[in-house]
Amino acid sequence: MTEIKKPIKKPHGKARLIEGKCIACGARCESSCPVNAIEMSAGGEPQVLSDKCIGCVKCLKVCPAQALEICFTPEEQRILDELASQQGGAVMEEEPDPEAQALAEKLAAYRGVWVFVEQTEGEVAKVSWELMGKGRELADTLGVQLSAVVIGDRVEALCGESYCYGADQAYLVDGPVFRHYRTEAYVEAFCQLIDEYRPEIILMGATGMGRDLAGASATRVATGLTADCTGLGIDAQRNLMQTRPAFGGNIMATIMCDKFRPQMATVRPHVMQMPERREAETGRMIRVTSRVREEAILTKVLEIISDRKSDHIDVAGAEFIVSGGRGMMGKENFALLQELADELGGVVGASRSAVDAGWMPHERQVGQTGKTVRPKIYIACGISGAIQHLVGMQDSDLIIAINRDKDAPIFEVAHYGIVGDLFQVVPAIISDLRSRRNQPSAQERLCVNA
Ligand SMILES: Cc1cc2nc3c(=O)[nH]c(=O)nc-3n(C[C@H](O)[C@H](O)[C@H](O)COP(=O)(O)OP(=O)(O)OC[C@H]3O[C@@H](n4cnc5c(N)ncnc54)[C@H](O)[C@@H]3O)c2cc1C
Repeated sequence: MTEIKKPIKKPHGKARLIEGKCIACGARCESSCPVNAIEMSAGGEPQVLSDKCIGCVKCLKVCPAQALEICFTPEEQRILDELASQQGGAVMEEEPDPEAQALAEKLAAYRGVWVFVEQTEGEVAKVSWELMGKGRELADTLGVQLSAVVIGDRVEALCGESYCYGADQAYLVDGPVFRHYRTEAYVEAFCQLIDEYRPEIILMGATGMGRDLAGASATRVATGLTADCTGLGIDAQRNLMQTRPAFGGNIMATIMCDKFRPQMATVRPHVMQMPERREAETGRMIRVTSRVREEAILTKVLEIISDRKSDHIDVAGAEFIVSGGRGMMGKENFALLQELADELGGVVGASRSAVDAGWMPHERQVGQTGKTVRPKIYIACGISGAIQHLVGMQDSDLIIAINRDKDAPIFEVAHYGIVGDLFQVVPAIISDLRSRRNQPSAQERLCVNA
């Protein structure tokens, strides 16, 4: 008599929060649950209602911090162990979810990381090379190629430059119609490339041009775009984790685009580290003939008028920044910071409070709604260190804070902190720097002694 084995149903378990791992990213797990088994606590952490949970793991999949896990009762664990030991046993396999399968196939058609190489009259915006460094990291994690996208007129040389900054290959769209940036022409060419070559990730600078092209292209190809990212990473399902300040900068949100491709992100200049340039690197160039015709473009460039004033100060590109906040007490006191900046060969920046008070122009504002800076030295004078200011300067190589309040949050990111009145401390630093400069060097002293 043949023994008929009764199929054993595989237990699903219940979701459970792993203590200390939740980053309160904004209730993605709650909205992903098909049976409303997740409620959010006041602190933004999920509470799993185990009588409702069906162990579908949807919440685990969306969690960017891997803060949820599936746990089994001792009885369920016993069944799992039994199933594992009975390899010949009749195990009831889970039904494949056709919707999930179709989605996986759709997403799998997109591969590779792209960086848009922004150029004006052949001069590349540095942010493009910064993104090439981050793009290289993402491509290596995913095990795919990193491609540069170069669009312009007589810009073939920039493909070679892209290889030096880490690209494996470059898509080149070259022609007189792309001489000046015009949304219609660039979007048409860019979307043609996306449709043909299907990248999974596209990174662009959060500059005027980058923001314009990214927004219009994402709309055209019907995908998601996260602007002003400050962090980029890859999760276990090869989704791009796009971190950026949210709710006025009070929290950092990690945003995913897990149902559409490509995943598009913009990043401001100086947020990502500039990679080392490797001379003589080579790569593959893919020249693409564009469908764009001059007659079809409604916008015509008649004249270029530069808005750069002769005294234009580039806070974002400065190596030394002396910034002042509300603690400066008035516009006239910024002359003191200018003196210190002159000693260091740097420029003067400001917090938003100082800009709002009319003490400094908006171009000098550092922070979430100002410039992101990454100087060698950042000296914060009379700045409290609100999160919106910190996101714009916390990646500086060396931060020195001067504040009379010893509990000011700026000291949490400062490498050196001086608790004191800036109107005493700053003049003392200036006079010290001047006296050091006037002292003879060791070599000069040797000559005098000889
Ligand atoms: C959506 C949004 C975007 C924002 N974007 C930005 C942004 O881009 N950049 C930005 O900076 N802010 C931004 N803010 C504003 C931010 O929240 C803070 O209000 C601002 O940064 C505070 O500026 P502050 O540090 O100069 O002023 P305060 O917070 O008033 O701090 C002044 C500091 O000066 C110190 N001080 C006073 N007198 C002296 C003295 N004699 N010597 C030494 N220390 C002294 C005080 O102890 C205090 O810590 C934004 C806010 C929002 C909501």
